[in-house]
Amino acid sequence: MSTAKDVRKLACPICGKAVIWSTENRWRPFCSERCKLIDLGQWATEKYRVPVSKTEPEQSLPDEQ
Ligand SMILES: [Zn+2]
Repeated sequence: MSTAKDVRKLACPICGKAVIWSTENRWRPFCSERCKLIDLGQWATEKYRVPVSKTEPEQSLPDEQ
């Protein structure tokens, strides 16, 4: 037996749904636009998550009169 078409399947990285890897699937490797947007959202969140160390400067009030 030989299959003419090689149907590649993979799991959507977001929801785990089986996705057929084909040129018709414009959202690959995701199953849908939604999952792709979710992934992009996570990416953006990761991007904007800048470690900010809130170290308040020592308040050295000038003791002048
Ligand atoms: Zn999905």
